[in-house]
Amino acid sequence: MKTFYIETWGCQMNDLDSQRLSGSLKLRGLRRVDSELEADMILLNTCSIRDKSEQKVYSHLGRLRELKEERSELKIGVCGCVAQQEGERIIQRAPWVDFVMGPGNVGHLDAVLDREHAVAVDFPEDRRYDSLAIDRTSPTKAWVTIMEGCNKNCTFCIVPMTRGREVSRTFDEILDEVRVAVASGRVEIELLGQTVNAYRCHKSGRDFGALLGAVAEVEGVARLRFMTSHPAEVNDSMIAAMRDHENISRYLHLPVQSGSSRILRRMKRLYTRERYLEIVDRIREAIPEIHFSTDVIVGFPGETEEDFQETLSLIEQIRYGSLFAFKYSPRPGTPSLRIGEPVDDAVASERLNRLFELHEQHKRERLESYRGRVLPVLVEGPSKHDPAMFAGRTDDNWVVNFSGNPDTTLGSMLGVRIESAQHHTLRGEAV
Ligand code: SF4
Repeated sequence: MKTFYIETWGCQMNDLDSQRLSGSLKLRGLRRVDSELEADMILLNTCSIRDKSEQKVYSHLGRLRELKEERSELKIGVCGCVAQQEGERIIQRAPWVDFVMGPGNVGHLDAVLDREHAVAVDFPEDRRYDSLAIDRTSPTKAWVTIMEGCNKNCTFCIVPMTRGREVSRTFDEILDEVRVAVASGRVEIELLGQTVNAYRCHKSGRDFGALLGAVAEVEGVARLRFMTSHPAEVNDSMIAAMRDHENISRYLHLPVQSGSSRILRRMKRLYTRERYLEIVDRIREAIPEIHFSTDVIVGFPGETEEDFQETLSLIEQIRYGSLFAFKYSPRPGTPSLRIGEPVDDAVASERLNRLFELHEQHKRERLESYRGRVLPVLVEGPSKHDPAMFAGRTDDNWVVNFSGNPDTTLGSMLGVRIESAQHHTLRGEAV
């Protein structure tokens, strides 16, 4: 039996694409292996969100050249966002690559494999999505794509180029996929989309809030999460659905990117600092226990110390439980390349450190606030640090490592008394 290996970089959308690719290859009769050396086909599912992503892919391809020289029947495919961005150039620079396929063609893998040296970087009208062929890796959790692409065009972002325009799946298709996933034991559902809350069913016109409510009400869904929300798309229907369904996670990743309205305008984020704060207030009023997390870009072209101070003050005001911050990374073809003076790298690094220092206090306070409390935890599996313990997540998405009955079943919901807070996680004992 022929074998395949998939190397995946990047976000959950890419992870899910790899599960879809894996499912299609298994349907073609191939077997998945854990090493490139054992594989008859190697797929690199790439990510282009940060600087140097292309170099990383080309240097990986350089290493694969030797394998191809030893075994000419080996097939090598480059998929994902770097494939979309580089297209034909990949075959020109690395002629030992057999095919290049962008994210819009994941559902068309069969057709791509049937062509010689295919470069499939279009966005077909009929984007096929075979939910039954997804090779899900978790026994308790299923990712479900509800929409692909993005219409927002933030000036620093390459995603609209690599993932195309927004396309939402229909309400009924999504609900069917959720029901099948639940029937197979996946009691935790995570809805995915680049701007997940911009979802709108093109048949019925129903919006993201309506979808959240409908998925939360599918029998057997113990926990419902979603990623990634755009602040400008938060509306009353989304907030009401979260407030009214206890099984919707009390965690919201709401990327702010900057606390300065001047920089937000340059980023084309479609909200101001004031508007973002107002959205956070509205959500907190409805769901006081919400755990907010965010993304911040430090050193965006033209960012002054004053702009950065506004970011710090916004972070101080919101006190996020989790925060992901990066130095601005110029991406090819994006408008931010022409927007303003680049910030000196040493200055950007220093700002990044100050930001992390401030956030660390907020995270610590939040983690410490759970000590002594009994929290409902959805069991995910053995703990990575100590196989004698279990790991699971709270309603608001903190990982908890806990000791408990060895018969504890995966996917069950348990009460866990929190004994201590670690750097990013909690520790406790099942009660
Ligand atoms: S909304 Fe997100 S995915 Fe879309 S362009 Fe902006 S950063 Fe990129």
